[in-house]
Amino acid sequence: MKVIVIIPAAGLGTRMAPMPSAMDAKTKKPHPSKQFSDLAGTPILIHTLRKFAAVEAVSEIWIALRENEIEGFRERLAKDAADILKKKKVELVVGGEHRQQSVEHALNAVSAAADDVVLVHDAVRPLVTAEIIHEVIEAAKKHGAALAALPAVDTVKQVERTAEGAIVKATIPRAGVVLAQTPQGFHYSVIKKAFDEAAADGFMGTDEASLVERSGHEVVVVMGSPRNIKITNPGDMELAEFYLSRR
Ligand code: C5P
Repeated sequence: MKVIVIIPAAGLGTRMAPMPSAMDAKTKKPHPSKQFSDLAGTPILIHTLRKFAAVEAVSEIWIALRENEIEGFRERLAKDAADILKKKKVELVVGGEHRQQSVEHALNAVSAAADDVVLVHDAVRPLVTAEIIHEVIEAAKKHGAALAALPAVDTVKQVERTAEGAIVKATIPRAGVVLAQTPQGFHYSVIKKAFDEAAADGFMGTDEASLVERSGHEVVVVMGSPRNIKITNPGDMELAEFYLSRR
């Protein structure tokens, strides 16, 4: 049984910087997409890759990138991440316009048996731990579909967005809510079927589990971590650097 990791890393990260093509005031170079931003001197994506490369059970890692970033990243990997390439097979594929398409491209490129495990993990969650990765792999092996998530500590409101701002429509009892993180793991047969059905129906979700849920397969939750943050806004970099320095 193989464990195949897919890392969608083809986002523009426009919440981090105005546009990747805009100039960075410090370096005078175009802003990198957020997955390539330096975190303690190393691109976020390489931190993330190292986490998965260190896990024995992982067989191969597929990264979806924007087409014009593939060659540059291949060179960067060879130069700065030979340790990763020594440990694991790493393949680069062209991503899509949305996260789901990026994952889909990788999924179509891998060669897997029905009960191989496919893990999907955001490039911009470099603080994931080996323990979370293991637990998602084990739960996916056992149940066919699993994700890391956190219980909601804040009260969750359902809102309607209007010209005047958001208006609260309902309060969702938080005992029944978890906040989904990645990794999310599935038997290859489960995730492939869910993606094929979503493509046929034109359904677009914000994570892989939502596609699997709608295909009728139960998804099991394992405990994530508050440190497993998705670097989204500029302030998140400081928090990520702080967590890294405390290891
Ligand atoms: O932009 P968002 O927060 O959804 O990004 C989550 C992950 O999906 C990031 O790692 C990002 O690079 C990736 N992504 C992608 N292809 C896209 C958009 C996002 O691989 N078209």
